Amino acid sequence: MSHAAPDLVRVVQDIADEMRQRPDRGTVASYIPELANVDPGAFGIAVIDADGAVAAAGDSDMPFSIQSVSKVFTLTLALGMVGDKLWRHVGREPSGNPFNSIVQLERERGVPRNPFINAGAIAVTDVILSGHQPREALGEIVRFMQALAQDDTIAIDQAVAASEKRTGFRNTALANYMKSFGVIENPVEFTLGVYFHHCAIAMSCRQLATASRFLAHSGRNPSTGLSVVSPERARRINALMLTCGHYDGSGEFAYRVGLPGKSGVGGGIMAIAPGKASIAVWSPGLDAAGNSHLGRLALERLTKRMGWSIFGA
Ligand code: GLN
Repeated sequence: MSHAAPDLVRVVQDIADEMRQRPDRGTVASYIPELANVDPGAFGIAVIDADGAVAAAGDSDMPFSIQSVSKVFTLTLALGMVGDKLWRHVGREPSGNPFNSIVQLERERGVPRNPFINAGAIAVTDVILSGHQPREALGEIVRFMQALAQDDTIAIDQAVAASEKRTGFRNTALANYMKSFGVIENPVEFTLGVYFHHCAIAMSCRQLATASRFLAHSGRNPSTGLSVVSPERARRINALMLTCGHYDGSGEFAYRVGLPGKSGVGGGIMAIAPGKASIAVWSPGLDAAGNSHLGRLALERLTKRMGWSIFGA
């Protein structure tokens, strides 16, 4: 594997040094103990360039709960299974609402706005589940993550999954509501079981940046040659990440960072610099929209210094 360009290595290290010291860290998610107990001082970053060289700093090898970052991978899997028929179950517009909002669903007859809000991701998970047992569907998702990250050790944190289930009243409401419109096909508890478990996958920044390389390089990991999706599909998944990947913070993320990105309440953000790099950052403290506060700031620094915003310098 080649070495990352010295300027990238320097920038990544500078960012980690700055983020470590900042007092403004956001608020760690507190709805389950496993997330509430994470060290708010943690910070990790991993950037993988087109040659496969890794620039990483901070807690880049520490696994964290990927939560909603998993929704990019379930979307990819579901599109692979049913193609454009997926869009019968879920839309492609930004929601402008919090990730777990229920109000829009009533007006739009149970069809969620996009695959990245909770309702949309639950509908996508339901598509993956159809025709399978929950265990098989979950196995498929985990094996997909392992193959993309080239790491068979990637696993579900069972304590997180159990807590998600125990506290998942709102997700249960969303799923039942969609079920009443016929948008969910499988028994609600099966669909939710798979959803809670894929949100509970634990991965490090390095593993996430590796797993998302195909999105930075027209659907294909340039190092392994593994083709995951067509160039057109990769472009479209990136478009959805740009417009919907940070919920009602998506506009601000595009404004400040200028890359397709997907956040999770565990504090992770996966971002794509098309043709250039795949990136993952992790800082557990969140902003009011549930997106990593320092994660976004770190990406803002990175795109500015590297000139990577898709909107120009
Ligand atoms: N598991 C979380 C939930 O369903 C995921 C939300 C998120 O990461 N934004 O509420």
